[in-house]
Amino acid sequence: MGMRALVVSAPDTVNLREVPRPEPPAGWARIQVARAGICATDLAVMAGQAGVSFPVIPGHEWMGIVDAVGSEDDGEWIGRRVAGENEVSCLLCPACRSGRWRWCPHYQQIGFGRYGGSYAEYLIAPIYGLHPLSQAVSDLQGALLEPAAVALGVLERAALRIGETVTVIGDGPIGLNVLIVAKAMGARRIIVGGEQPVRLAMAERLGAYRVVRHPNEDLVAAVTAGHGQSDVVVEATGTESGLQTALNLVRPEGRLVVAGFAHGGQAVISPDRIHLPDVAVIGAGNNPGWMGRTVALVEDGMLRTDHLVTHRYALAEFADAFGTLSQRGDGLIKAVFEINPH
Ligand SMILES: [Zn+2]
Ligand SMILES: [Zn+2]
Repeated sequence: MGMRALVVSAPDTVNLREVPRPEPPAGWARIQVARAGICATDLAVMAGQAGVSFPVIPGHEWMGIVDAVGSEDDGEWIGRRVAGENEVSCLLCPACRSGRWRWCPHYQQIGFGRYGGSYAEYLIAPIYGLHPLSQAVSDLQGALLEPAAVALGVLERAALRIGETVTVIGDGPIGLNVLIVAKAMGARRIIVGGEQPVRLAMAERLGAYRVVRHPNEDLVAAVTAGHGQSDVVVEATGTESGLQTALNLVRPEGRLVVAGFAHGGQAVISPDRIHLPDVAVIGAGNNPGWMGRTVALVEDGMLRTDHLVTHRYALAEFADAFGTLSQRGDGLIKAVFEINPH
């Protein structure tokens, strides 16, 4: 049987095509995708910048219903609403056996090459990465669990404590997810710097203590005016100016999380700016292990990120979706594909 999928056959060559439905091997499930978050990372995937192999079906933020399993033993999964992790690893090597399966030599990610992603009517995923969703999690929210888990990973790596101050540089979906999660974790005075008025207005509605629109306003001046430097700074733009600003904002012995994708871009900084103030610089480019707790937080009403969705598209509207995303036009904050409504 076939299915429709967005197939990227070469850099920036995307078509909606009829392709065979993937068959799950033993230990895997096939999921009929209901909703898929549209992520700027996938623009890099489509452009061939993210180390992908073509052809690729992108998409790594998704929820849906299990419609087939590879082994009879897993039959109980059929019909379950699930969200899933994208990591595929061997589970047997020393890295996997110590729980650091991101560093498995056989590591692959759904939506980045060999395993097709969620910009399709169906995908296959390992059952060990599936999370059943109760009715407390809407389809829309289910498709947004992955970026929320990324934000939880960012802040847990920073060892954020209740009552600490946080500055987020970048008003994209990851920056706004960090704001939402930081509030849920008990941070105070969360300041968000960005360039998009619509996104900064959203940050205000979500409870940011202060938003700063640069380049019109100086983030460093705004943060330090009366409030001191931040305990935790999250750099979510992947730019040199963002990193420079972050180093100006983090307090001595504070934590700076580098959470933006620079696409190979360079930044010149003096090591003294890390060395002398004893700043901890923490990378957060991967998201292993936070999905399950994110699901639990959403189910219990402690976390909600579906307010971020401003645009919904059918798969056939992909050109419009990706065009609006790359221009950050039309007030777009977060977009989703509505694939199999049920
Ligand atoms: Zn993403
Ligand atoms: Zn392994």
